[in-house]
Amino acid sequence: MESKNLSKIRIGTFLSASFILISFLVFRTNLPKIPTLFLYNLIIIAAMQSLGFYRGLFFLGVSIFLTIIASLGMDFYYVWNVPVFFIVFLIVESQIKRHEYRDHIISTRMEEVRENTNMLREQHKRHKREAMLLEKKEARYNFLKDVTSHLSSTFSLNDVTGLVLKNALDIVGKSESALLFLVDTQKQELNLVASKTGSGFEKIKTKKGDLLDDWVFKQRQCLLVEDIKKDFRFGGKQPEEYPRSFRSIISCPLIEEKKVIGIVRLEHSRPHNYNSEDLRLLDVLCDLGAASLQNAKLYGQTLELAITDGLTGLYLRRFFLDRFKEELSRSLRNDLSFSLLILDIDDFKNYNDKYGHTAGDIVLKTISRVLNGFEEGGIVSRYGGEEFAILLPDTSKKKAKRIAENIRSAVKGETIELRRVKTNVTVSIGVATFPEDGKVEDQLILKADERLYRAKREGKDRIV
Ligand code: GH3
Ligand code: MG
Ligand code: MG
Repeated sequence: MESKNLSKIRIGTFLSASFILISFLVFRTNLPKIPTLFLYNLIIIAAMQSLGFYRGLFFLGVSIFLTIIASLGMDFYYVWNVPVFFIVFLIVESQIKRHEYRDHIISTRMEEVRENTNMLREQHKRHKREAMLLEKKEARYNFLKDVTSHLSSTFSLNDVTGLVLKNALDIVGKSESALLFLVDTQKQELNLVASKTGSGFEKIKTKKGDLLDDWVFKQRQCLLVEDIKKDFRFGGKQPEEYPRSFRSIISCPLIEEKKVIGIVRLEHSRPHNYNSEDLRLLDVLCDLGAASLQNAKLYGQTLELAITDGLTGLYLRRFFLDRFKEELSRSLRNDLSFSLLILDIDDFKNYNDKYGHTAGDIVLKTISRVLNGFEEGGIVSRYGGEEFAILLPDTSKKKAKRIAENIRSAVKGETIELRRVKTNVTVSIGVATFPEDGKVEDQLILKADERLYRAKREGKDRIV
């Protein structure tokens, strides 16, 4: 800007000098007057343009003064020519100034518009980023909503663990494997109950948790290991010393009623695979999963209570009869045989009368234990007060009789020690086999029952 002004002044000065020279040429030589004056006026305007308004005014004053001196004794018409041009110049100059001012306003406005545009563009970018984040959040929220509804309608422990792992892999993504451990409350250790690996990855063989899993279990906190090679929190254990190869993991505890009931872990062979956002998501999923796991456990327990007897832990009659029906149709379909044993304690009323009801209960428990030992894939139930029924799938009459005989002698051999006395009981057993003794449920049960009572009639402690 400064240098431009300087060069303008220089040009102006040069023009002033030329003007003085020309004014002498005009008035003191014989050059043609009109074209020379035209050139002379052009020089004045150019000089004023270059020098700016006030300097130009000064220049004009000087030029008029010099022209008067130069033209002394000549025709004044030429001298008046100068102010006429000066007025024309002023008009032109003011027009130019107005134009310049307008240009200036326009360029200022343009600058403002440009600034506003930039600001809006930035704002737009920010809003776009925020919208994307919100969309992502919404997707995750919807995902978690789906997870919640799936989990709350799932009651089997297996299904819940599978669902938690599947969702962990889906929502966090980018994992090679996912593991779910449950806490064995008696041994206070972690057991792997479910695992999932991406296709093409090694199946998981480990059954117990490692150092990292124990850390999560004991600290009751989520864990993010960005690179196991560079993580010195765990006694500097080298990656090769772990049962599986991995570089980064995230893991969170499943906490229910302030107790760690298990942990979920995701891992990858690439370091820096996870960030704190992934960990937060896994934590939320674990919160949902823990409640569902606990529900599934309770549901399982309730189911168990509904189908098993409180005293002996054996299946109840109704559950037994359902299984009996199933076995019957399976055997019919596959042309197989199966056997049914009905067992009754001999003179149990007397036993109760002699030693008391509590002692009688101990007998019932002892016999249940013996029967469970002979189960061999069968289903043992407490069929009535002191009657038991045993279903032996895929078992011929011959084999069933052998098993019944073993049960009879095993019960007889059991000594039930009461406070002072040693006691024994015997049992009678009725055996019926499908299909020779009956092809429908009632027929078979009736047959076994009849034979049990025949055994009683024939002197008890025997098999019919
Ligand atoms: P039998 O040799 O003919 O079978 O004679 P029994 O005395 O065993 O007669 P029965 O099979 O009818 O036995 C029924 C008795 O079983 C009646 C009851 O005192 C006893 N009992 C049934 N349920 C229970 C139980 O839950 N606990 C105890 N302690 N006794 C029971
Ligand atoms: Mg009875
Ligand atoms: Mg009896």
